[in-house]
Amino acid sequence: MLKKIFSPIRIGTVELSNRLVVSPMVTIYCNDEGMATERFTAYHEAKARGGWGLIITEDYAVEPEGRAFPCLPGLWHDGQIESHSKFTRRIHDSGGKVFAQIYHAGRQTRKAVTGCQPVAPSAIPCPILQEIPHELTHEEINDIVTNFGNCARRAREAMFDGIEIHGAHGYLIAQFMSLYSNKRNDAYGGSLMNRLRFPLEIIADIKKKAGDDFPLIFRMSGDELVPGGRNIEDTKAISVVLEAAGVNALHISAGVNGSVHAIIPPAAIPHGWITRYAEEVKKIVDIPVITVGRITDPFLAEEVIAGKKADLVAMGRAYLADPELPNKAAAGKFSDINPCIGCMQGCIEMISQYRPATCLVNPTVGKENEMKIYPADIKKKVLVAGGGPGGMEAAIVAAKKGHEVHLFEKGDRLGGQFYIASIPPFKGEIAEFLAWQIKQLADEKVTIHMGVELTEEIAAEQKPDAVIIATGSTPGYPQLKGIKKENVLFAGEVLEGKKEVGERVAIIGGGAVGAETASHLANHGKNVTIIEMLPKLATDANPFVRRFLLQDLAEHGIQIYVNSTVTELSDDGLMIKRMGREEKIGPFDTVVLAAGLRPLNDLHSKLQKKVSQIIAIGDAVTIRKALDAIQEGYLAGLGI
Ligand code: SF4
Repeated sequence: MLKKIFSPIRIGTVELSNRLVVSPMVTIYCNDEGMATERFTAYHEAKARGGWGLIITEDYAVEPEGRAFPCLPGLWHDGQIESHSKFTRRIHDSGGKVFAQIYHAGRQTRKAVTGCQPVAPSAIPCPILQEIPHELTHEEINDIVTNFGNCARRAREAMFDGIEIHGAHGYLIAQFMSLYSNKRNDAYGGSLMNRLRFPLEIIADIKKKAGDDFPLIFRMSGDELVPGGRNIEDTKAISVVLEAAGVNALHISAGVNGSVHAIIPPAAIPHGWITRYAEEVKKIVDIPVITVGRITDPFLAEEVIAGKKADLVAMGRAYLADPELPNKAAAGKFSDINPCIGCMQGCIEMISQYRPATCLVNPTVGKENEMKIYPADIKKKVLVAGGGPGGMEAAIVAAKKGHEVHLFEKGDRLGGQFYIASIPPFKGEIAEFLAWQIKQLADEKVTIHMGVELTEEIAAEQKPDAVIIATGSTPGYPQLKGIKKENVLFAGEVLEGKKEVGERVAIIGGGAVGAETASHLANHGKNVTIIEMLPKLATDANPFVRRFLLQDLAEHGIQIYVNSTVTELSDDGLMIKRMGREEKIGPFDTVVLAAGLRPLNDLHSKLQKKVSQIIAIGDAVTIRKALDAIQEGYLAGLGI
């Protein structure tokens, strides 16, 4: 069905069986000496078994001072070759082809990571990290060029199938290539060819040390999307020069640290939106061109290649969500592909805090060995109370182990609070994951008792061996005078469309839920006001997602009161306290409460001493993110 993505292609001397590429993505799975750990290896083995045509690893540092994150892999000395040889052997044994991406972070790092001052072509700080770099001398530039060549030679000795030079995303090579960061007036600055001197010297040194036949991809941003940055016309000119220098493929991404939404687009950004840059480059070169950028769907990948917009499609978060994506697509099992929902919670949010990557929809990421599902020795009867994402995950995993699983959901739909979370703008892809979970429940033959609350009496009748309590949370009324009125609604019932909402709406609580509810209502033409006690809105939202949420609120002219608490609700408005002063705002037709949830778990104490194994997970224990609920659900199912 998908003939284009499953056709072979060559990059230099290497033949790939298909056009689907694992895009480089930082995981923080190696140790701080840059060695390949078991965790790093098992994670990549899963991709190799999953059928990807090519795996490009995350950034191998060419010197320890060039790392932007701790615990990155490295080939900066010969003592690292053996560790990475073992890694490549395991990938090859699992059927994969693997290129090492090699890089130097330049100014896009911190002293806290490397222990020294960052370096750059010019002493201009990265606008995000704000550390003033040391301007490299010619001698230091030459040392780094040599380190790239040696790193590539070591990659070849470690049996990598090729390398990718990371010249994208504002790292050191990109810094030299762009007037945005390169203000030099010597041989490495000024004209385009001067700015290309550094990458061209690197390519020449790599070819000298690793061999002209060692396959070489060059990655760069098609447009840096910052004022004064490189644009697509510069990129096209550079592409021609790189092809002439012997590069075997070009990998076209977008952005720098200052435009990080282009590097790691959240769900607010359309799928495949930067393929336009690869398409422009493809028109003027004869070597293969790889595109990337929130392409998570094999049909979109097929369309890209069939439309001659690129020759290969790299996916980042899609392989975290489902390492088996190529195998499932090849077998036509499209509805079995676990979808990346663009939430950023498990991957980018974690690594930006220098914590190992995980994935909200796939808790096994980075724990492929520990979280493997084996058939249970003793088959048990398992009851799951609550059909939110954590409860469904627990039921799926327990059923995969061979247990008899019954899921009880007292409402008329599955998905819990996560279903409600899928309703506001930019959040719709959450529903795709819930649909995937529901299909898994059916495939694993979990019995679903819809509209039935699991009670002490039902548990006594069913005689389970284990009960998983995933009853979630419920909203509560804050202690406020006049709060219990007909026009005072909870955010959940507003988002689900269960209650009529008037034209003028006040939302009490400007956390992520309040702000998203405001965005939803404003997009439906309502006149919305938010009252939040903290100085900023949506501070609990993922920072990468928050930017687009705030932008949407601003575009809709939403009235915002921060540092403000509501003291009373009256028939014609709200009394609020701001900077020690009381004032009246309104009138409002509807008041929406988005002021928090409380755990819902009456069952645990009732079943204690009656059921041998009881596990409570997610919000039923304490209010947390869906990431936590799903991880705990998986572990609960695995532990029975
Ligand atoms: Fe996608 Fe969210 Fe998983 Fe990241 S954590 S890969 S954004 S589903």
